Amino acid sequence: AADLARAESLIAIVPDFPTPGINFRDITPLLADADAFRAVIDGLLAPFEGTYDVVAGIEARGFLLAAAAAVAGHAGLVPIRKAGKLPRPAASVDYALEYATATIEMHDDIAPGTRVLLIDDVLATGGTIAAAQGLVERLGGTVAGTAVLLELTALGGRALTGDVHALFTV
Ligand code: 5GP
Repeated sequence: AADLARAESLIAIVPDFPTPGINFRDITPLLADADAFRAVIDGLLAPFEGTYDVVAGIEARGFLLAAAAAVAGHAGLVPIRKAGKLPRPAASVDYALEYATATIEMHDDIAPGTRVLLIDDVLATGGTIAAAQGLVERLGGTVAGTAVLLELTALGGRALTGDVHALFTV
């Protein structure tokens, strides 16, 4: 618990990034601290022990957390990538961002019924995670759970994503 509290304090707030008016939450100081990084990986996985076969991370910061979680949880890693990056047949979903649309993709080769634990760094409007959940199910997987480091509660993302395990909330 001491490590988790310190981990939370290591998330930096960067005003006006990437655009004026946005308070960006920067997790890189947390990742750079060995004990904090370990504590958040354990915390992300804690509710899901024994319930997942693979961990899926969403590009790009989700990869950093999901890869560490996959190793710690003795599970495989599945990348969910931005459009056009995956080399083999993939399923694709478009979703709305604030002023644009985005596309994420996942290789079309998970075994039917694979239990997928989804991990990303921040739950904001929920569009990204909801799109990832839809992709997993469209490909025949089951969403075992969804976990994020930080939930920005004011944006109401859970309306789109359903239940999410958020280690920290603001
Ligand atoms: P969404 O609005 O779809 O929930 O979030 C969009 C994407 O932007 C997610 O992958 C989320 O991780 C990222 N994101 C949104 N706001 C922040 C932020 O303040 N800090 C970080 N690190 N990522 C953010």
